[in-house]
Amino acid sequence: MDSTSQPTPAAAQADNTASVDRTAAKAAKPLRNPCNLCQSVRAILKRPKTGQQLCRECFYHVFETEIHNTIVDNKLFNKGDRVAIGASGGKDSTVLAYVMKLLNDRYSYGLDLVLLSIDEGITGYRDDSLETVKRNRDQYQIPLLIVSYKDLYGWSMDDIVKEIGRKNNCTFCGVFRRQALDRGAIMLNVDHIVTGHNADDIAETVLMNILRGDLPRLQRCTSIITNDTSEDSSGLETSKILRSKPFKYTYEKEIVMYAYFKKLDYFSTECIYSPNAYRGHARVFLKDLEAIRRTTIVDIIHSGEALSASVQANESTKLPTMSTCTRCGYISSNELCKACLLLEGLNKGLPQLGIGHTTKIRRQHEAANLASGLSTPTSLSSPSIDGSRSTDENVKVVTHIKDLGRLANQPTLDIV
Ligand code: SF4
Ligand code: ZN
Repeated sequence: MDSTSQPTPAAAQADNTASVDRTAAKAAKPLRNPCNLCQSVRAILKRPKTGQQLCRECFYHVFETEIHNTIVDNKLFNKGDRVAIGASGGKDSTVLAYVMKLLNDRYSYGLDLVLLSIDEGITGYRDDSLETVKRNRDQYQIPLLIVSYKDLYGWSMDDIVKEIGRKNNCTFCGVFRRQALDRGAIMLNVDHIVTGHNADDIAETVLMNILRGDLPRLQRCTSIITNDTSEDSSGLETSKILRSKPFKYTYEKEIVMYAYFKKLDYFSTECIYSPNAYRGHARVFLKDLEAIRRTTIVDIIHSGEALSASVQANESTKLPTMSTCTRCGYISSNELCKACLLLEGLNKGLPQLGIGHTTKIRRQHEAANLASGLSTPTSLSSPSIDGSRSTDENVKVVTHIKDLGRLANQPTLDIV
């Protein structure tokens, strides 16, 4: 064997040492852009809320743990609670359903989870998003109930928009949705509804309520948990359903990131009857502020909380006393709840009735009552108004929301 082709033992040892050194140098080479938490994996994202650079697993961990801490710190649930997740198929409620199930299993909350969806009857939007909710039902193995405006009120949003145009449609939709969620919760026999309202939504609502000077709503929107008491018209049944927002401090951008990295199945199209112009302006304003100062969203929520605490402490700012609607039994500070007032307007061809209180509308209302043989009311909330039972053949008679037992048998109820 040619001695030149064979390394001497000393040379071979030198080669081995060099190779070990190279490996060690490679191993010791600092990781480029490491995760701020674990330091062992490259960061792949910058948290919008804190600016921390994190790897995927650490992001999941902080995101989920913050929501768990919000739930625990605010004592949102008791073991054994039956909780409905308000599900629209959008990113917020899809992530909420996923995280609620995950945390319920991880921390043994002992919750009985169900999905509750509202079908407003918006062709080309809600019908598609409800398909997403049905897939989520199967993916997460959580039962689903869908309740529709058409069943509850006799009107879909498509019908309402045909009637009133696209000006006040969101007012009708918002009032009807609030009641529909409660009605669905009663059908499901749940103690609690969680919704996917995130920190950005709440900050926008705080801004809007401050700009409108609406203090009762300011209080409501900043509370993480609210309590509605409603009573059946017979006065026999009282339902007490809590509502809470586990995403109160969760940034919208982080919800989108979480859904994206987890590859969750959600629906991302805007409602065809949007935009709600006022909220749109508040949103743009908020995003501009956030671009300058990252903590803007949480700062506005904290300001809203402080303001609402001072409203509560100020005796001169009395909140309306809550009673129940004489027609449907829903919680209301007036004789008729807002949904019944809006329905009355729709059924009488006076859709402005519940929107404004101008003399012209009032005159139209009185004229319609005279035409239908009803006595002229002295006020809009007078007990003499009974539009849903009007004898006028031109007035659409709706089956109202009292008869929940009947609704439970409707074919559109998709209960699993
Ligand atoms: Fe209803 Fe308006 Fe929302 Fe559409 S944008 S779902 S009409 S509240
Ligand atoms: Zn990490």
